[in-house]
Amino acid sequence: MKKALLGQEEVFLWKQKGRIGFWDFDIEEILNAANDDLENDPKDKLPWNQVLPRIRDWVIRYFREGVTDAFLDDLNSAMQDVRYTKYVLPLDLLPSRSGYPRSGYITDLDQMPSPEAYAANDFSRILTSGMLERVRRCQMEGCKRLFVGPPQAKWCSKNCGSKHRVRKKRKRDSS
Ligand SMILES: [Zn+2]
Repeated sequence: MKKALLGQEEVFLWKQKGRIGFWDFDIEEILNAANDDLENDPKDKLPWNQVLPRIRDWVIRYFREGVTDAFLDDLNSAMQDVRYTKYVLPLDLLPSRSGYPRSGYITDLDQMPSPEAYAANDFSRILTSGMLERVRRCQMEGCKRLFVGPPQAKWCSKNCGSKHRVRKKRKRDSS
C-alpha cells in the first residue's frame, strides 16, 4: 500500500435534529466525566454514561498495549457502526487558507450508534489527534483515575499524592 500524504487534516462533524456541529471535545472534560463515572451505579447509566467507561477502557488498553495491529483491528471494527458522509462545506462553516472550500465528514446522530461504537469513535479521535500524549494514570494503588498532566505527574490529585506518601512511610516503618 502506498503511504498517505502527511499533513492532511480531516474534519469531522455531526448532524442531529437539523443542527450541525464540529466533532470536537476536550480530553480533560471527558476524563473527568469518566472518572466521576467510576462511582456511578452501572444500572442507572444514561446512554452517554455507557460511553464513558468504554472510552476509559480504550485509554487503559492503549497504555497497556500501545498501537499494535490487534489494537487497531479491534478499534476499527468497534467503530464500524459510525458512518460518515463526505460533504463539501461552505467557507463560513469551514474557512480555508486557499479560499477554496474544503470537505468534511458528517455523521448522522439521529441514528445513534451503539455506546460501543460511539466510544470507539471518540477514542479514535483522541488517539489520532495526539491528545493521549498528556494523559496519565494515577499511580496511587487502587486509584483508577486518568488525568491530564505533565510527564512527571504521578497522581490525579493532591489527595492521592499524600495518601501514597503516607502508605510508603507506613511500609517503611513496619519493615
Ligand atoms: Zn488518584
